[in-house]
Amino acid sequence: MAERYYLGIDLGGTNIKAGIVTETAKVLSKLSVTTDAECGPDHVLSRMCEAGEEAIKQSGISIQDVTAIGVGAPGALSHKKGIIIAPPNLPGWKNVPVRDYVSRYFNKPATLDNDANAAAWGEYWAGAGRGKSSLVMFTLGTGVGGGIVYDGKFLRGHYDTAAELGHIIVEPNGKRCNCGQIGCLEIYASAINSAKIATEELKAGRKSSMQEELSAGKLITTEIILNHKLKGDSYAEEIWNRTCRYIAIGCVSMDHVINAEIIVLAGGMVAAGEYLLKPVQKFYQELQGPVFGNNSGKIVLAELGNDAGFVGAAGAAKLCEEVGSFSGL
Ligand SMILES: [Zn+2]
Repeated sequence: MAERYYLGIDLGGTNIKAGIVTETAKVLSKLSVTTDAECGPDHVLSRMCEAGEEAIKQSGISIQDVTAIGVGAPGALSHKKGIIIAPPNLPGWKNVPVRDYVSRYFNKPATLDNDANAAAWGEYWAGAGRGKSSLVMFTLGTGVGGGIVYDGKFLRGHYDTAAELGHIIVEPNGKRCNCGQIGCLEIYASAINSAKIATEELKAGRKSSMQEELSAGKLITTEIILNHKLKGDSYAEEIWNRTCRYIAIGCVSMDHVINAEIIVLAGGMVAAGEYLLKPVQKFYQELQGPVFGNNSGKIVLAELGNDAGFVGAAGAAKLCEEVGSFSGL
């Protein structure tokens, strides 16, 4: 039997990524184009399909060879209805029927999933989770996303909002999150927010070598915090460790819920490599009591980088085909 091919499309607020992935998770082609979100849904839907056509062309197959299409997109969305509801980073989008548009354009079955869930499925299928029984993934970038893979499936939830791990409460008396809830992990552990907290504390007069960067008008980022920590600045060390501890709190909580074989750290902050992994692992061990400590999931770094989204979307299309759960067309 001929090999099967899946088209994966990852719709982001800034870029659209598309690629052809085989049934054995081999990437045959991949490309990225700008989303041009300000031009509205019709324009973006066309760009997504054009990027898909180009990915098919570059892989050397034809559309007839594609078995199905998977799209990963920012939430809130409905997998069941195949619509994007109202994502904060796609202004003006309301109830856009992405799945059916893509499905009709290519005349192939299509599926739509939350981008963080799709990325977790990508890591499970083709990256850090390959061969593992289960995983929980934290995506640490502008916000904190999440995905849970268990028993050969990823968790969507009854209302398609499962695995929003950025909104686990870590400080019930803490700061208010953009979602309206108080004390979310995202407020303390995302790259943007941990840099924001550092900036506020520096402005309030914390002694640190980062004060020079602030005076020079530079935007404090997690990269700057890490650089100063590595040069021996004690405040940079404190804020870096605080962020890692919050991530570890999220990991411990999820271990008690899922007890997955591995916990994957993904997203922009993973560029810090061992400087991120080691302290998170250390706090993870320290926070757990002896009852669970020896039977908890191992924390590892993601392997697919920015490819996880489209690879996972393609994998989600394969999964839908296997369980016969496509709708639309
Ligand atoms: Zn929140």
